[in-house]
Amino acid sequence: MVSKRLTEIPASGTIAISNLVSQMKAEGIDIVSFSMGEPDFTTPANVIDACCDSLREGFTHYTPSTGIPELRKAVADQTRNVNGVPCQASNVLITPCKQAIFLTALAYIDPGDEVLLPDPCWVSYEACIRLAGGVPVYVPTFFEDGFVIDPAKIEAAITPRTKMLILNTPSNPTGCVIPSDILKQIAGICMEHGIKVLSDEIYESIVYEGRHTSIASFPGMFDNTIIVSGLSKSHAMTGWRLGWAVAPEDDIKAINKLQSHSISCAVSFVQKASVEAICGRQDAKDDMVKEFRRRRDLALDLISEIPQLECNVPNGAFYLVPRYSMDVPSAKLAETLLTDAHVAVTPGSAFGPGGEGFFRISYAASEEQIREGISRIKNCLSQF
Ligand code: GLU
Repeated sequence: MVSKRLTEIPASGTIAISNLVSQMKAEGIDIVSFSMGEPDFTTPANVIDACCDSLREGFTHYTPSTGIPELRKAVADQTRNVNGVPCQASNVLITPCKQAIFLTALAYIDPGDEVLLPDPCWVSYEACIRLAGGVPVYVPTFFEDGFVIDPAKIEAAITPRTKMLILNTPSNPTGCVIPSDILKQIAGICMEHGIKVLSDEIYESIVYEGRHTSIASFPGMFDNTIIVSGLSKSHAMTGWRLGWAVAPEDDIKAINKLQSHSISCAVSFVQKASVEAICGRQDAKDDMVKEFRRRRDLALDLISEIPQLECNVPNGAFYLVPRYSMDVPSAKLAETLLTDAHVAVTPGSAFGPGGEGFFRISYAASEEQIREGISRIKNCLSQF
């Protein structure tokens, strides 16, 4: 018998579709997959070389649970120099990004605590909150506003039980990059009410217009923030499972307690390779961002020719969330697209109640796949 806690949460919507796509592909079905949010590029060669070197040098044992000192320093230097967050190596815990979110939820949420999160948002925040015994409270964001969260709506959702706010900029699934002035207002609200912010910045380097701002860069706000980020998206390293939390030292100690009882430490040789990913040449990463931007524009052009769809121009990440005009639940639509048109997308409902009426396309796919997949979507929707 599995626990009650587990029966109350669904499996990850993104991972479930990705598993199904793998199975269908293995059966020989020609699927165009826009489902999984992962770069289709190979990890840069210098990072792979650094990993192989460290393996050959025998760097195959446990590391300190917080991570190797040179990687903690590299992450701190980058977070301070690029994002203006006043942090040092002692403020960094190396752990897979998803693990950082899960551990943060476990470390801070008591049963009944309320956690604010934008709606729509990434599929696993709600599950992490619920597994910790917390209560997710969605703050709606709207297509018409480019899905930028309204600070007044955050303030209106605060109750005496509110413990934490989860922010994700650039956002999965909307691609919204929250402007700096809005983040500043949110920082003020959170400091006033003593609400901790879990700031998921995993798409921080994939910004096309404007720039990424970390909420922890505003004066006094780092004391109130746990940043999570990593290399999965920026360096096409999804399979390496390497990320981090950056937070005040007491928070790092608390989260590290859970790390020491769970995975012990991040993979040793991956940590070595990650120093190279952060400190070595960045040309492959920069090229990827340029290519994502080209694909975004291509996908938007193709979608604009589909009468049933309308779409914002997102400024970051590699997702589009078109709104459709047909009267059909998004789960049903995604199922029809997969079974009839052999295109995998993620239904909007996987991202919260506000995702209904939308579906998510991950355009981290080749130009050929984008053209073919959107053409299949067009044909399929014309039959509704
Ligand atoms: N974050 C990616 C996505 O949304 C990968 C899968 C997952 O972690 O949910 O597709």
